[in-house]
Amino acid sequence: MLIAVLSDIHSNLAALDAVLASIGPVDAIWLLGDIVGYGPEPERTVARLRAVGAIGVQGNHDDAVAGGESIELFNADGRTAAEWSRTRISDKTREYLAALPRVLVKETTAGAFTLVHGSPRDPIWEYVDSPYVASENLAAFGTGFCLVGHSHIPLAFRTRRAGGDSLRMRIVEPEGRMQLTDRRAILNPGSVGQPRDGNPDASFLLIDTDAAVASWHRVAYDIVATQAAMAAVGLPSDLIRRLARGR
Ligand code: ZN
Repeated sequence: MLIAVLSDIHSNLAALDAVLASIGPVDAIWLLGDIVGYGPEPERTVARLRAVGAIGVQGNHDDAVAGGESIELFNADGRTAAEWSRTRISDKTREYLAALPRVLVKETTAGAFTLVHGSPRDPIWEYVDSPYVASENLAAFGTGFCLVGHSHIPLAFRTRRAGGDSLRMRIVEPEGRMQLTDRRAILNPGSVGQPRDGNPDASFLLIDTDAAVASWHRVAYDIVATQAAMAAVGLPSDLIRRLARGR
């Protein structure tokens, strides 16, 4: 079974379509939240994901765009984009975003995975971006593996030995791989629609459950087209510029 794990798409339909074209047929698509927010195509991005049968969890931007209180904690640009997005989605999409679960557990032949946007103990807000935070979260999920988004950086945390609670962290390079073993791990696929690791290409993760391998991938997309779509609807200029820098 081949599973694509996508996170932080952020209404960037050009990036999502480039990823979907690059992965080809897969058995499942798992989403780690922030489908919307920041970008220019909230309605069509949700429609595309529903059409391909993707399942997943809610992020802080999904909650905010659906009308939730997360918006109170956003910075000015995030809030502007979320308020704009609220006016551009259908009732059906609003209900879909509001109803997304915050934690999902999926069983596979390679082991069980907990899916969250932020962290297992704080599913839409906490950033798992250090070995300390990752190890603090080991007790908050009951599966061997946890998939997180939110930081927009492709990351892998893994215990140094089976049963251990000391974790090693690595920022995963394009085409990086990890064998899924009896050592617990927290994996971040990076961001499809707004990468922040200095590489502007869309980032995603594939899980091959037969081989028990997770692999990270990058794909170029038409950044200028997304930037033009954002400018056309008056989204904040810093959000437009950062796509080209991958920051
Ligand atoms: Zn995000």
